[in-house]
Amino acid sequence: MNSIPEKSVNEFRSYTRIQRLKMKPDKCSFCKGKLVKGKTEFTVKLEKEVLTIKDVSAYICEECGEAYYTPDVSEKIDEIMKKFHESTLLVHPVAAGELSLGEVAA
Ligand SMILES: [Zn+2]
Repeated sequence: MNSIPEKSVNEFRSYTRIQRLKMKPDKCSFCKGKLVKGKTEFTVKLEKEVLTIKDVSAYICEECGEAYYTPDVSEKIDEIMKKFHESTLLVHPVAAGELSLGEVAA
């Protein structure tokens, strides 16, 4: 992962599907399902690699499973994505491509 094509850096935001919360979540904006607080996995696909962040706090739709991330969490995900693209993020060799938010807390 030393030579990430420049275009992937520009495009990486399109790979993320972060539902950013501006206020306390009420209902799912897709299906109006009820949102419950829980943990989810955030997976992002890059050109050749898949990065999974485990144990991400989110509000999850009971009906369709769409996850809504709080501003704190989406900021952390942004930070992780940035580090990942700069290749400064070291993931555990045991579980390649997996890490938890807590491990990269500033
Ligand atoms: Zn839903």
